[in-house]
Amino acid sequence: MNTFKEIKSLVQHLNSKRLEGKTIGFVPTMGALHNGHLKLIDASVKGNDITVCSIFINPTQFNNPDDLKKYPRTLENDLLELEKAGCDIVFTPEVSEVYLENRIVSFNFGYLEEIMEGKFRPGHFKGVGLVVAKLFNIVKPHRAYFGKKDLQQLVLIQKLAEELNFDIDIKAIETEREASGLAMSSRNERLSAEERREAIFFYKSLQNAKRMLLEGKNIEEVKNVVFWDFQENKHIALEYFEIVDTHSLREVANIQRGDDVSLCIAGYVGKVRLIDNISLF
Ligand code: AMP
Repeated sequence: MNTFKEIKSLVQHLNSKRLEGKTIGFVPTMGALHNGHLKLIDASVKGNDITVCSIFINPTQFNNPDDLKKYPRTLENDLLELEKAGCDIVFTPEVSEVYLENRIVSFNFGYLEEIMEGKFRPGHFKGVGLVVAKLFNIVKPHRAYFGKKDLQQLVLIQKLAEELNFDIDIKAIETEREASGLAMSSRNERLSAEERREAIFFYKSLQNAKRMLLEGKNIEEVKNVVFWDFQENKHIALEYFEIVDTHSLREVANIQRGDDVSLCIAGYVGKVRLIDNISLF
């Protein structure tokens, strides 16, 4: 496995691989790798000649400075895991390598910045879009792998690739969960043992809402039940629970069997912010 910190040497290396006719799969991450990330790596290893993983804690996507400061950093272990998973290239740039000091470009993702994660994390998606576009231009992969766990991010990247004509196949990978149902997340490392048990409530609520919808309860009713359940839960502060079209992420007013509908949720367990989603059918 080769590790690069500089754009120039990474680009040179990848150019020579491309000339050899190798296909390149790319998995962007912020490190503190868990089995969810490794599932993306595995899909890339299976689908490409070469897999590139970036580990970069992107400051421009953190709307909360404390979250950035406390974001888990486990580089040594990450490199071991990547090597074991068959990753070929790791890109671990410094912030100054990625961003010019006097940069002026920024993206606007329209309504996607106004809803769910966009609403509760102002500026977050501008940072995500910017760094992913930069990384796409640096790595120039044939395929890039993203988790459905961050559904809104996935939709945004799909739009970015489509509207800016990136010739990259965006692959969506299912959410990896712990046995309890808790969606794996780097932020779970910041939960105490008790908070980790409490955090399962997100997944349980999603499952409960799904069951009610499948039983024919209407959307308003289901939302009310979920909101009341969280009102009574003193350990979790709910930020949003939305029932949305999986592709546009706009709220749905009614549901037909087989519609592509997702149930999305976010909130705080103690000081740690977690998100999750499941699809209805
Ligand atoms: P992050 O390091 O949190 O920026 O995540 C890097 C990539 O891993 C993103 O595409 C995430 O959606 C994906 N990811 C994070 N958690 C999971 C999970 N539990 N299952 C599948 N993919 C995940």
